[in-house]
Amino acid sequence: MKTLHHFVNGKKVEGQSGRFGPVYNPATGEQESTVPFASADETRSAIAAAHDALASWGATPPVQRARVMFRFKDLMERHKDEMAALVTAEHGKTLPDAGGSITRGLEVVEFACGIPHLIKGEFSENVGTNVDSWSSRQPIGVCAGITPFNFPAMVPMWMFPIAIACGNTFVLKPSEKDPSAPLLMAALLKEAGLPDGVFNLINGDREAVETLLEDPRVAGISFVGSTAVAEHIYRTGSAAGKRVQALGGAKNHMVVMPDADMDQATDALMGAAFGSAGERCMAVSVAVAVGSAGDALIERLTPRIASLKVGPGIDPDSEMGPLVTKQHFDKVRGYIDAGVKEGADLLVDGRDTRLQGYEGGYFVGGTLFDNVTPDMSIYREEIFGPVLSVVRAPDFDTAKKLVDAHEYGNGAAIFTRDGDAAREFSSSVQAGMVGINVPIPVPMAFHSFGGWKRSLFGAHAMHGPEGVHFYTKLKTVTARWPTGIRAGAEYTFPSMK
Ligand code: NAD
Repeated sequence: MKTLHHFVNGKKVEGQSGRFGPVYNPATGEQESTVPFASADETRSAIAAAHDALASWGATPPVQRARVMFRFKDLMERHKDEMAALVTAEHGKTLPDAGGSITRGLEVVEFACGIPHLIKGEFSENVGTNVDSWSSRQPIGVCAGITPFNFPAMVPMWMFPIAIACGNTFVLKPSEKDPSAPLLMAALLKEAGLPDGVFNLINGDREAVETLLEDPRVAGISFVGSTAVAEHIYRTGSAAGKRVQALGGAKNHMVVMPDADMDQATDALMGAAFGSAGERCMAVSVAVAVGSAGDALIERLTPRIASLKVGPGIDPDSEMGPLVTKQHFDKVRGYIDAGVKEGADLLVDGRDTRLQGYEGGYFVGGTLFDNVTPDMSIYREEIFGPVLSVVRAPDFDTAKKLVDAHEYGNGAAIFTRDGDAAREFSSSVQAGMVGINVPIPVPMAFHSFGGWKRSLFGAHAMHGPEGVHFYTKLKTVTARWPTGIRAGAEYTFPSMK
């Protein structure tokens, strides 16, 4: 069994705290490695390394910082298969899905390669007579990233490429469930020529996170994970005077109007609900079927879900892999039990999925509930598994009200051929990322990713322009050079006459 490590100041560092966690292969249920959990002191040593590297890295010309990102992107592409294999081995998702998520992360690296352009400022000549003014964006300092299990490579890449390209230094605390892909990224950043201390990785649990939240040397915290933790991170980090962006959980609805192409809507729901076994913050977990769309969808979805190919992520025939841990497997099955008790109609039951040769794996098959109502826990709460709930709505207004009333507002989609309905939905729906005949509207790297309501705490979404703003402080300089004309002291507020 492998023992993993931290990565501080350009070096692998063994865990000293004596505390460790298990990392499993979810397809077999066997423990593959042990990950050290950093103590507060070990976490502080990573913060110190990032702090020491700050002045020199912040003064490095942006074009040179960008060149490190170009080399990192090249190395990531060369190691993409290895990286995808690590994601599949520890998370469970299929290899093509793991590869796709790495590509989406690399798009943020590509965006960060343009940093000289992104942080160049604005200049106004003669804001007053012989007075010029310009603004520029400067790094905020040591930044920390705390990331979830479901995208162990992509979500860290939403954060550190932009933070580092902007001239900040970084401490990553990845999920303790699948830390090997982020550790490989740390090694590749060093190989790309990133100076020691600019990127550090500390493995661990709450103790490491609380230390990052408390330490005054940390200026900004980026978090992605569940809503309860996101809210805690936001409150604690903000109270300590830090910038915080904290992305939380989701319950994404897809409204299907009766005029939609039902085959297209069914294909979209299959991928969006069951890809990555539903362990995506942009997964569609609720289909709101309007009027006659209900029966049409159920008729198409039921056989498709019942015949989903569930298997280990390394099997090219698998459409869906296992859930990440035994604990999560039990939780998702518990939700299916609750849905039955609460009176929803269970049309396809994934609880008894057994795979020969993988008896210890955490497999739950595709599950379909019909006639789900807003009072049920399977509707209100994020299940984060392969469970699709169909809610029936008589008309568009009722469907949209459901989406708007839900506590989460990450993504929302509408499938329709009606331009009026699509426009009204996209314009007024209470969600941050909206799809029109697109089930998973994840913005590209040059736009920003973030939800509304209890899916995001803080003022900034991630990557794209919002990422650049989060990781930089605005400075505006107003300058006058002596001209020989001396006006003398002025005691009124400066303004143009
Ligand atoms: P999680 O909240 O359990 O863990 C996220 C991170 O926080 C991990 O690094 C973990 O070690 C740390 N953590 C956990 N409990 C903590 C505590 N009490 N105090 C301090 N730190 C703690 O989330 P997860 O199970 O790894 O990921 C799944 C969740 O992430 C889902 O809710 C999903 O919707 C959400 N997610 C959201 C987005 C988004 O963009 N909004 C993207 C991906 C995942």
